[in-house]
Amino acid sequence: MSNGRYDIAVVGGGIIGLSTAMLLARRLPRPKIVLLEKEDDIAQHQTGHNSGVIHAGIYYAPGSAKASFCYAGSKMLRRFCDERGIPYETCGKVIVAVDDDEVPRLMDLHERGRMNGVAGVEVIGPERLREIEPHAAGIRAVHSPETGIVDYAAVARAFAHELTGNGGEVLTRAQVIGLDADREGVRIRTSLGEVTASLLINCAGLYADRLALDMGIEPGLRIVPFRGEFFSLTPESSRLVNGLVYPVPDPRLPFLGVHFTKRIDGTVEAGPNAVLAFAREGYRSLDVDAVELWETLRYGGFWRMARTHWRSGVREQYRSAVKGRLAKSLQTLVPEVRKDDLVNRSAGVRAQAVDVKGRLVQDFAIVQGPKSIHVLNAPSPAATASLAIGSRIVDLAQEY
Ligand SMILES: Cc1cc2nc3c(=O)[nH]c(=O)nc-3n(C[C@H](O)[C@H](O)[C@H](O)COP(=O)(O)OP(=O)(O)OC[C@H]3O[C@@H](n4cnc5c(N)ncnc54)[C@H](O)[C@@H]3O)c2cc1C
Repeated sequence: MSNGRYDIAVVGGGIIGLSTAMLLARRLPRPKIVLLEKEDDIAQHQTGHNSGVIHAGIYYAPGSAKASFCYAGSKMLRRFCDERGIPYETCGKVIVAVDDDEVPRLMDLHERGRMNGVAGVEVIGPERLREIEPHAAGIRAVHSPETGIVDYAAVARAFAHELTGNGGEVLTRAQVIGLDADREGVRIRTSLGEVTASLLINCAGLYADRLALDMGIEPGLRIVPFRGEFFSLTPESSRLVNGLVYPVPDPRLPFLGVHFTKRIDGTVEAGPNAVLAFAREGYRSLDVDAVELWETLRYGGFWRMARTHWRSGVREQYRSAVKGRLAKSLQTLVPEVRKDDLVNRSAGVRAQAVDVKGRLVQDFAIVQGPKSIHVLNAPSPAATASLAIGSRIVDLAQEY
């Protein structure tokens, strides 16, 4: 830690904090920037536990921040990867309707994709689907040729490299434990000691609401952790999938439904589901943090959400507990996949904001406070959109 006094402190060494800090160091004249991360290394939470998809921007409501940042961010991300030699692949994706009931929703998605300017997105019939994904079942599909895959932890490391190359500091094992704003700036107590900054940017992912509350900002929402569990396909069954095969999602939920994802290392993953986690960093079903669970349970918004979505919640818990049930869901997309093809269970935890009325916040949420900016909802496709979100935060930071 230099003398502990900075112009800007960014909390969170995930892809959003890192892209923001990197762009600040690139765009502002000689700022003193520190990035504070509580873990031993960067990208240990959502950024290192996701599906690795560069979304093209089909799903999101036209005019929303998700739609515009995903569209712009995916282009910025590819350019960044090209410049740094980070491997990515534009493998394309199909969203598959398996019965007539799903077709109207599929057509809505196609229309959304078109309105969001997604290149090449088209509705295809079963013959074309079989050419792209010979083992997928479906009566119609939306094909998005521009969707791609990348390793977001590698992207985050490249952001950190550029940040430090431009004079920024990255402090790991620096958990922020207290915040106070006064006329001088923000006093930030960390597990490594105190630092001060004129501006604090909160990109703490699963803990972003807590930091906002610490700064005296009532954000009107709370982060509810939703675990997404994955399996890998065995090498023999991986040949059943060429790229990305998704179901038609439930439009009431911000999750995309369990799907098949080719990874940049050539393996194929199946998942993720979306089950309530009993700890913000609860990667296993038995991980319970009593304080965090209590925080969730005494939040009125949680119970209002539960009243609306309890059926899908129970279904997801069951599918999480019974592997055969997950295999059944996957078989609707690719019938040849067997339960025994699913190996090496792993998980990520999504930071999903829920508002006081119990609504799952659909759009990205960035809130400004005195001497601070808070990223309060940045679930998928925030990794895709990270450079666009970072640019937006830099614009906001220039107002301070
Ligand atoms: C299962 C899953 C699949 C996904 N798939 C995709 C996908 O295919 N494509 C896509 O675009 N997006 C995807 N996402 C979403 C994407 O991963 C996230 O939107 C993105 O990583 C969010 O980045 P972040 O920096 O906000 O959060 P994080 O990566 O969680 O980073 C937050 C950081 O803050 C640190 N922190 C928290 N509290 C403190 C504190 N008090 N002091 C210091 N540091 C602190 C944490 O340790 C963490 O490193 C997926 C997410 C999940 C969970």
